Amino acid sequence: MAYRSRFAPSPTGYLHVGNGYSALLCQQWCQQWGGVLVLRIEDIDYSRCRPQFDAALIEDLGWLGLHWQPEVMRQSERIAYYRAALDQLQMQGVLYPCFCSRKSLAAASAPHGVVVQYPGICRQLAKAEQQHRMATEPFAWRLNMRLAAEQIGHQVWWCSVDGVDATAEVDAQDDIVLARKDIGVAYHLAVVVDDAAQGIDVVIRGEDLAPSVPVQRVLQQLLGLSAPRYWHHPLLRDGDGQRLAKRNHSTTLRSLRAQGVAAQQLAAVLLQAPAPPRWDAAVLDQLLSG
Ligand code: GLU
Repeated sequence: MAYRSRFAPSPTGYLHVGNGYSALLCQQWCQQWGGVLVLRIEDIDYSRCRPQFDAALIEDLGWLGLHWQPEVMRQSERIAYYRAALDQLQMQGVLYPCFCSRKSLAAASAPHGVVVQYPGICRQLAKAEQQHRMATEPFAWRLNMRLAAEQIGHQVWWCSVDGVDATAEVDAQDDIVLARKDIGVAYHLAVVVDDAAQGIDVVIRGEDLAPSVPVQRVLQQLLGLSAPRYWHHPLLRDGDGQRLAKRNHSTTLRSLRAQGVAAQQLAAVLLQAPAPPRWDAAVLDQLLSG
């Protein structure tokens, strides 16, 4: 059976050239190893996702020369599966309701206001208080990592595509939110459910997402899902070393297309080994001058 990898963009804006780079790496890997590329649109956050960006990303990836399996998965259509996974975790007794707001957490984490790890405020609440507050206040569901460790052991491990193993301490992981107050689900839960549903063997994505592997492995273990291999590639960066952002219109794939950049040439420049180029004015000039 062929390997399966996925590209999983969120339609929160037009794809930028760094997203394009990631998609091309997925495709290149599949071509090299006889794999199949699937597309998953991660559109659960309805406060940030827009249908026009969904349509645009399909068009932009097609322009860039991406070929994926015909059936495209959309997370917004899969809420029932995430609920079922949440129910399973609830039965396992590893979740707790969290009533904290972002604002209260930032205030509690003086002096810089950046919340690094959840301080565990709602982890210790008595059952009666939980029940009472659940009836009157909005709440999120968090994963209790200590209880998770009791069930799956204190370490998780995973393999990268080059066969190197890595491990992490389960107890050291943050009690992440698995169901947000507003949308009833959250990124990590949806990703592990969908990676399993799509039969993903190899997850290829930017290195900014590498820290999410330990918690995703914890969830896979708890839910009895198989573990993909991982490859977190370097990010494409601008001339100042900053990562690219969708809000910067000049680096979107459609703006490059509008300026007359040829997709094939763009792909060739991005995929030059061993590392991506700096995305600066010189690269763009080179592409525009043919
Ligand atoms: N949807 C995420 C993003 O656009 C990618 C998640 C993943 O690859 O696991 O950054």
